[in-house]
Amino acid sequence: MTEQVKTNSALDEVIAYELHGNCYLNITDRCTLRCAFCPKFNKTFEVQGYDLRLKFEPSVGEILAAVGDPGRYKETVFCGLGEPTQRLDVLLQVAGKLKQQGARIRLNSDGLASLVQGRDVTPELAGLIDALSISMNAQNEDVYKRHCRPKKEYPGAYQAMLEFANKAKAVIPSVTLTAIDGLEGVDIEACRKIAIELGVQFRGRQLDVVG
Ligand code: SF4
Repeated sequence: MTEQVKTNSALDEVIAYELHGNCYLNITDRCTLRCAFCPKFNKTFEVQGYDLRLKFEPSVGEILAAVGDPGRYKETVFCGLGEPTQRLDVLLQVAGKLKQQGARIRLNSDGLASLVQGRDVTPELAGLIDALSISMNAQNEDVYKRHCRPKKEYPGAYQAMLEFANKAKAVIPSVTLTAIDGLEGVDIEACRKIAIELGVQFRGRQLDVVG
């Protein structure tokens, strides 16, 4: 499938971008984490040829317009250079509209939405999100803190992320924890073991490759 950039024509921003036959949605550049390996903390917003810097956060209507017909894609994936659940209301509204059009929806997340919102938000994802991919990134809190650097107002982020995955598996058909292969101190097999013990899937991924 030909890769095609979808932009807001007035501001020339990449709201939706196409990779691997999927439509990826870039709805915010705000994050709960400050990952040391993140492109934006290394002075670039470019990911696989797309400049994902946002000067504004797109509305529900602007996001849906950028997607167009979701039937052209295998999946529509919330995954930009920010944490999609920072805009949970918008995410849920967009997912609801796209589901009505038959889309398969994946959410790539830091798994910290319940910690940030102060309540268990996983029931709100039921029926809207078909697959959830959570950046686990480490086999323990020390390694997680070193690489992901959660903001200090969110203590206990590592355990909260695992708890989110555990709760999500009850309402989302496919839940996968991921970790980046090759990051210093990250034990991929130990990460896989934790995922298996939690009863979810695991995938090792490569740095800066959108999946
Ligand atoms: S969660 Fe993703 S976008 Fe946010 S800082 Fe980490 S790598 Fe960057």
